[in-house]
Amino acid sequence: MKKSRTEGLNYKFLILFFAVSACIILAVFVGFIMNETIVYTHFFYIPILLAGIWYRKKAIYVALFLSFFYVLVTLFSPQAELSVHVFERSAIFVVVAYVIGFVSEKRAKGAEKLKETKEYLDNIIKSSADAIAVVDMEGIVRSWNKAAEDYMGYTADEVIGTSNKKFFAESEEAERIMEIVLRDGELKNYRTTVLNKDKKPVHVSMSAALLRDKNGVPVGTVRVSRDVTKEVELEEKIREERDNLNLILESMDDGVYIVSKDYEVEFMNKVLIDEFGKQVGSVCYKVFHDREEPCPRCKNTEVMKGETVRWEWHSRRMNKTYDLIETPLRNVDGSISKLTMFRDISERKRIEDELRETCEKLTELDKMKREFLNVAYHEMRSPLAPIVGYASLLERCEIPDKGRKYVSNIEQCARELEKMINRMLELARIDSRKVELILEEFSIQEAVQEVVKSVEPEAKAKKQVLSTVVPGIEIQADKQKTVAIFSNLISNAIKYTPEGGRIDIMVEDRGENIRVCVTDTGIGISEEHLPKIFERFYMVDTSLTRKSGSLGLGLSIVKEYVKLHGGIVWATSEVGKGSKFVFIMPKRQK
Ligand code: ADP
Repeated sequence: MKKSRTEGLNYKFLILFFAVSACIILAVFVGFIMNETIVYTHFFYIPILLAGIWYRKKAIYVALFLSFFYVLVTLFSPQAELSVHVFERSAIFVVVAYVIGFVSEKRAKGAEKLKETKEYLDNIIKSSADAIAVVDMEGIVRSWNKAAEDYMGYTADEVIGTSNKKFFAESEEAERIMEIVLRDGELKNYRTTVLNKDKKPVHVSMSAALLRDKNGVPVGTVRVSRDVTKEVELEEKIREERDNLNLILESMDDGVYIVSKDYEVEFMNKVLIDEFGKQVGSVCYKVFHDREEPCPRCKNTEVMKGETVRWEWHSRRMNKTYDLIETPLRNVDGSISKLTMFRDISERKRIEDELRETCEKLTELDKMKREFLNVAYHEMRSPLAPIVGYASLLERCEIPDKGRKYVSNIEQCARELEKMINRMLELARIDSRKVELILEEFSIQEAVQEVVKSVEPEAKAKKQVLSTVVPGIEIQADKQKTVAIFSNLISNAIKYTPEGGRIDIMVEDRGENIRVCVTDTGIGISEEHLPKIFERFYMVDTSLTRKSGSLGLGLSIVKEYVKLHGGIVWATSEVGKGSKFVFIMPKRQK
């Protein structure tokens, strides 16, 4: 490349050199040998012109040299005389050289700029990720970039100069594209299918513009195409899924419809068509609500934002209540439609309203029952006091031993009965929220001792060891209820532990709380019964429970009292080995 450039330079230089030499020889010949005065200087314009074109402003040197030589010849020629015309002509040489040099310099710069711009554009075209091709008016490919090579498989050399028809899957497509571009002057995001070198279809999105020459005559089209095969496949998949979805929706028992963001019904399944008629294409507010504008409760805005909404709608026209689930559905073109599922819940609603009334009635009845039981327990307790009283009076009278035994039995049974009724009454009062804590400061040690003292005879009778570990701390609680908690737990431990067993009562100071454990070595409670023993009237059917005439209320009262103090109670047990009842209760009430 460099070599040919040097050669080119030498060649031009040689021609110029010969032209200048020819002019000098001509001047010498005409001036000294022919002794003529004819104007030979017109020939000087030839080297000046050549120098101006080839060496631009440097042509002035050629003009100056020739002018100088002309003056010399004129000066020494016997015929010619040095007149003002000679200098005038010389000056014209320089001016002409300057003008030609200036013009050709400008032209050369313009050409360089054009070349740079062309190179820049070529680079853009080459490096573009989109395929760019130029096709002339006859459909012949004139330019083909790297991206086009990549996805079409053809190199630029293979396609430039050939017809673009072979690239299209459909033979008329080449003409169709040319027609549109000629008609509209451009083509935007046109989807078409081309065939690559292996004859595999490639989906492309093509934009094209018309190329015109400087007179405005169309000379071809420039086409920019992008491979959108993946997008097209995805769209196809979405379309297929949408078709499948429609099939599923069609076979559903619930009503289903799809509306566009402009409220236009796009799909209705058979269930809805049977109910509202075939309304695809109409606006949903007219179809379902008989309105002229969107309903105030319409959920289109939320659903279009991507939310799924569930709400109930009562159709006055149908006198039916529907449970509606509305969810966004993405379309092939990226837009969002709303899918709505209608479920007729009129029947369920009616049942719910039956149920509500029944519930209200039951609550009423429950209240009446509680009030009745409260009164009944009081009434049942009233005759018991005189029975116990008279029985103890009778015991003091002179009666035979057998009669004394009967009287003692009557008194004992009456006391048991009184205890049971008192428990039932207490639970009834707890249920009616009539029980409140009466708080006082007391020593937990004293309270435990009080209980132990009352149950000791029983434990002694069964030869049981009753051990207590209780710190001397003061607590603030309802003393009577705290005593009842201990009393129930310790009595149970004695009751359900066979002769010679052991009962441990341990109270721990746990900062803000006390932790109490009543452990026995008794019969234990099986896993099956353990979770239920705090329920009312729940008894594990054992010979001991039967014998003791239990009622299954003691632990319910324990649970309620601990709860009233803001504490919790639980039990662990192993059948045949014993049970452990634990409760935690705050030392003071807030
Ligand atoms: P009851 O008045 O029958 O003792 P409770 O509510 O106090 O009623 O107890 C419910 C049931 O829990 C009892 O019937 C008994 O089977 C079981 N139970 C309670 N404490 C113990 C224990 N320490 N050992 C074994 N079983 C127990």
